[in-house]
Amino acid sequence: MTMIQSPIQRYLEDLHARIAPLSDGAVADYIPELQLANPGWFGICIATHDGHVYEVGDTRQAFTIQSISKPLTYGLALEQNGKAAVLAKIGVEPSGDAFNAISLQPETGRPMNPLINAGAIATCGLITGDTTADKMDHILGSFSRFAGRTLEIDAKVYQSESATGHRNRAIGWMLHNFNILADEPTPTLEAYFQQCAIEVTCHDLAMVGATLANGGVNPVTGTRALAQEFVSQVLSVMATCGMYDASGDWLYQTGLPAKSGVGGGILAVQPGRLAIAVFSPRLDAQGNSTRGVAVCRAIADDLQLHVMDGTDRNMTPVRRSLTRRSAASKQRRSESASGYLKRAGDRIRLYHLHGALVFSTVEEIIRRLMARAPESEVFVLNLKLVQGVNPAAARLLSDTQKALQTLGKELLFSDASVCWHKLVDAGVDPQSFYADDDFALEHAENRLLSKLQPTHPGDTPFALAECALFRGLDAQDMLLLERFLLSRTYYKNQSIVSAGQASNELFVITQGKAMVSTPTEHGIARLDVFPPGSTFGEVAFVDQSPRSANVTALNTVECKILTRDAFSDLENEAPKVKIRLMENIALSLAGTVRQINRELASLK
Ligand code: GLN
Repeated sequence: MTMIQSPIQRYLEDLHARIAPLSDGAVADYIPELQLANPGWFGICIATHDGHVYEVGDTRQAFTIQSISKPLTYGLALEQNGKAAVLAKIGVEPSGDAFNAISLQPETGRPMNPLINAGAIATCGLITGDTTADKMDHILGSFSRFAGRTLEIDAKVYQSESATGHRNRAIGWMLHNFNILADEPTPTLEAYFQQCAIEVTCHDLAMVGATLANGGVNPVTGTRALAQEFVSQVLSVMATCGMYDASGDWLYQTGLPAKSGVGGGILAVQPGRLAIAVFSPRLDAQGNSTRGVAVCRAIADDLQLHVMDGTDRNMTPVRRSLTRRSAASKQRRSESASGYLKRAGDRIRLYHLHGALVFSTVEEIIRRLMARAPESEVFVLNLKLVQGVNPAAARLLSDTQKALQTLGKELLFSDASVCWHKLVDAGVDPQSFYADDDFALEHAENRLLSKLQPTHPGDTPFALAECALFRGLDAQDMLLLERFLLSRTYYKNQSIVSAGQASNELFVITQGKAMVSTPTEHGIARLDVFPPGSTFGEVAFVDQSPRSANVTALNTVECKILTRDAFSDLENEAPKVKIRLMENIALSLAGTVRQINRELASLK
């Protein structure tokens, strides 16, 4: 079997080959152990928010995470202390200085942001635990959840930095002086050195980024690494401060929140979508991987990932917009009721939605509903293909429902499985959800009928002669025919026929209602509801095939049954009656064909 290569994989391989000759910059040497890195190492990964990874080159080579640890620890500090307590100690302003600058606000000593060393050391101080080991338990646990595997510290790199990190120690003591670090700073400083020495691969970094793109949940393991509410804070500081003094230029060029480390890694994230991870140890003057910067800029450009790009703005959330004229419920109605519903069909509107419900898409839906509200009675929103709804959009839908209610109109939802909870939490009436369009439309029709035609006929027993199958037969014919019919009673929820069964019987309902359904993934789909007077089972009766669907009694159902044997016996005893019955069966099948054609036409 020949494997077909994805053009995305092909693109990454070409890009890797194109950037590999770039050998500017130098491997970091101020932490002696880092000098041992092979300057030729070069790996690129793209990981999607749902966890698919494209990779090329040295993506499984271990190296130390260094400063890419900073935003992750910042997220953990936010979770453990809350936003206000963290902001009180660490700012969120880009410093425009180098990563190791001692950028403290003059009066307060508050570090400018959590991604320069001063801010990162202060962040580490906010992590739960008085000892280095306690803090590291939390940090390693968090990073491992991000990566989706258990991460460890590279002891040599840690010791190497601990032995030489006098400048960071000086920063720690300055922070202590300003009471940003309340306690003696050594345990925090050692934890900071250890957090920077956590060993990762380019593939791990890609998973960390995919987790951020996926709202804080690792898409492969399904484990939450960071509370959703802090994901945007972490990505914001990456966007404004992640690349140190090159941050402004970086955001301008790539439009992606990112973080680099002196180990040679860069992680960039397109929020909600994907992550790019690059590993190449040669660094530029700002301490960012030279090839890493080139790769991220190329990918952002080639694949149009700049977050300010905004070209996906025109996605309409409405896939189909229908009225009851082309989408009626399966509930059969009396002639007068169906006549009325036909005329008033435009007063029921059904919208099939898709994509994500967020402010911009929900705004379009609300605008449409408001424009139609004066001449409409009931709106149904089908959410089957909706992938999610955020709290702001859910709230607006709830407000819309209430606004329509005050006008005496209804907003219903069908097929809402994934969104149900979120909508109900936002205040949408739990009674307004229906399993599918059919049930929602039936409710809408009933409402229309009860409002505008208060006395629509109920469930009265039918005289045999009025049943569709017996139309055109006179009293004498009926008397004769009755000898050929069986009577049977079914009770509520009892099965009358089952799909796949052999069938020799034709049914006429004289009292009660029966539902035709087929099983589906989620339960059943209702295909039809037979009121008194209707005939069913014609298809299998005529072509002698097995039953195609289930029929169940909805209440006590009285039936007259014509068996195939009795039907052939009629041939000799009353050929005229048999012909009449045949004509009526043909008429009923013709009606069904017309209905199916109407439904098919609405799908075009
Ligand atoms: N551990 C390194 C330091 O504090 C991290 C710096 C970096 O990756 N930019 O110097």
